[in-house]
Amino acid sequence: MIRPVLTYPDPILAKTAAEIETITPEIRQLAEDMLETMYHKEGLGLAAPQVGESCRLIVVDVTGPDKREEPLVFVNPRIVEAQGQVESSEGCLSVMNYRSKVQRAERVRLQALNLDGQPVEVEVDGMLAICLQHELDHLDGVLFIDKISRLKRSLYEQKLKKWLKKH
Ligand SMILES: [Zn+2]
Repeated sequence: MIRPVLTYPDPILAKTAAEIETITPEIRQLAEDMLETMYHKEGLGLAAPQVGESCRLIVVDVTGPDKREEPLVFVNPRIVEAQGQVESSEGCLSVMNYRSKVQRAERVRLQALNLDGQPVEVEVDGMLAICLQHELDHLDGVLFIDKISRLKRSLYEQKLKKWLKKH
């Protein structure tokens, strides 16, 4: 089921999401819905708070939205090692009409559980590393616009106000 995606400044997006203690059928369904929603909205990743569920679950597929070859689901993900620095140009399904450059680590090692409750570990770089950092931020209530300069942020707030008035 495609779920509505919350957008800034929805307060759920600013909350720290809760750890998932048990992987219930509801959590599996949520992961499936999140993948469907992500592909439908042509995103590369989605975090549970973006669909209004404040729990630590993310989905990503950097081969999407066209190929959809590598759907990944991580429960309670955490970055245990980060190396290097890159500048990435980011947008977000929860941040309307805006992209900006953000500083990210170049390479990350991530530990999580899969949907069977088994521990998994990946070490990645490139687009996937950036995407994982972006989605993990969502679990801590952080958006990429929280990482840009104050000037850029206030320009964005003005633009958003005007845009919301029109719609
Ligand atoms: Zn996002």
